[in-house]
Amino acid sequence: MAIRANPHLIDELEKYGAQDVVKCYHCGNCSATCPFSGEVFVFPRKSMRYLQLGLSSRLQGNLEPWLCYYCGECSEECPRGAEPGETMMSMRRWLTARYDFTGISGLFYRSAKAELLAIALVAILTGLGLTLFGLAQGNINVYDGPGAFLPAENIHIFDWIMAGVLVVLLGINCVRMWWYTVGSDKEVRIPPGDYLKQFFLVPWHFFTQRRYSQCDRKQPWAVHLVLMLSYLTMLILIMFFLHRVQHGPDIDWKVHAFGYVAAVGLVGTTIFALAGRVRKTWTHYKHSHETDWIFLVLLLVVSLTGIAQHVLHRGGWEVAANIVYIAHMMGVVPMLVLEVPFSKWSHMAYRPLAMYFSTLREKVLLAEEKTEPRPQSAAQTA
Ligand code: SF4
Ligand code: SF4
Repeated sequence: MAIRANPHLIDELEKYGAQDVVKCYHCGNCSATCPFSGEVFVFPRKSMRYLQLGLSSRLQGNLEPWLCYYCGECSEECPRGAEPGETMMSMRRWLTARYDFTGISGLFYRSAKAELLAIALVAILTGLGLTLFGLAQGNINVYDGPGAFLPAENIHIFDWIMAGVLVVLLGINCVRMWWYTVGSDKEVRIPPGDYLKQFFLVPWHFFTQRRYSQCDRKQPWAVHLVLMLSYLTMLILIMFFLHRVQHGPDIDWKVHAFGYVAAVGLVGTTIFALAGRVRKTWTHYKHSHETDWIFLVLLLVVSLTGIAQHVLHRGGWEVAANIVYIAHMMGVVPMLVLEVPFSKWSHMAYRPLAMYFSTLREKVLLAEEKTEPRPQSAAQTA
């Protein structure tokens, strides 16, 4: 089937953060430098080429942007300043938008105003809804137990409904990712048994971020892992132990101790990442898309209001605790409803899936000896 080139692909990717792609002259230094570029998946040069040639369909079926962890070494070695690391990042954003069947993701990535407006709208609706609900059935002077302004059992049901919606939205997008990258490829047929045998790779990469740890610099992996595990710990506490988390004013150490560790992890890594982006300390902090800022600021607001609500409740300031709880939920709901399926958080699902799909593809290709040669540098081809 003929491949149609999209002459506007670079312009499109620029809206997702790509810069200086046209400067690339395909010397191959970046692919030679990348610690993850291998026999089958040779990147980032090949992805830069797809972009320059306007091969949208090839780019859409490409798993390589997800195999990049943005260590930044390729950008540092690029003799033309073509920023291959940042280009791979922009491709991940673009792919996230392509997987999303609603189109919301693309809208957010292309327009920070649209994303901020949606966040503000969901936050206001959440605040209004919870306030009216609290006034109708509870007492603002009571934080938990009988007569509570926002009873834990109601919030618990609300959380589970939200989780169900998220799983459906993200699940559909994950199936679309599979179809684009593996399912629709008639040349590489993956035996169904391999899907089962290799499935352990999804939780393995999700929980360990193992591949990221293989970058030469270990600190970015450590920061990312702490942030992810802290977030997960908080999510487990809220989804399964909300009654005990909300109960007080005494401290339930068996539950709250995990919350304290997770809160320190969340606040510490978020502030670290924000400061890094302001000071541009690491290569991957050099360029920041608007969505990077929105993600970090929202996470910080949610973490700080969560801590404040907890402290106010322990201190016996029930009215203030209830008000801050509403403010906290005004951050939580847009973060979960808008950020998880449509923005930066979704990579928590796409990246381990990409590791899984790429391993399946690699096994078939290597078995069939369909590997592509590693790119030669300009000096070698001269
Ligand atoms: S190092 Fe990579 S991005 Fe830079 S010019 Fe060479 S092939 Fe292009
Ligand atoms: S940023 Fe690092 S992991 Fe990503 S392509 Fe460049 S060298 Fe490879």
